[in-house]
Amino acid sequence: MLDYSHMKDTNCLFCKIVAGEIPCEKIYEDADTLAFLDIMPVNPGHTLIIPKEHYMNVFEAPADVWAKVMDTVKKVAHGIQAGIPSPDLNIAMNNGKLAGQVVFHAHVHVMPRHEGDGYELWHGKKYAEGEAPHIADKIKNAL
Ligand code: AMP
Ligand code: ZN
Repeated sequence: MLDYSHMKDTNCLFCKIVAGEIPCEKIYEDADTLAFLDIMPVNPGHTLIIPKEHYMNVFEAPADVWAKVMDTVKKVAHGIQAGIPSPDLNIAMNNGKLAGQVVFHAHVHVMPRHEGDGYELWHGKKYAEGEAPHIADKIKNAL
């Protein structure tokens, strides 16, 4: 288990949003989770879902907290689909600096998508001959 405690931010932006110290455009709230509009949306309606407690990312958040975050993600996805409306959307999460995480309080992006919006997906690479089973084993053995 990796230890992220050294990276905990005592001045966390999203903790301040949870505490009401920084304003947000709130979409949904329950005892454990909060959903609010991303301030710089890929498209209007782009929403962030967070656990109210401070966990840096998916690695830190306990499974029960994570399940609650995912319940809210699904709820909000339906709301975006029906309300914006946006039939298609991306659900994404950046975990760690190399993955593009900028705010180190775990958050899931739910992003409405529209024809020609210019937002690209990642590009895949091919496995070398015989590489895939080896890679799969590395992950399976670490579970
Ligand atoms: P990430 O790269 O996954 O860490 O994304 C952080 C996200 O937080 C970005 O999409 C920002 O636009 C968003 N963000 C930063 N500050 C705020 C804020 N005060 N209110 C809402 N969203 C924010
Ligand atoms: Zn926080």
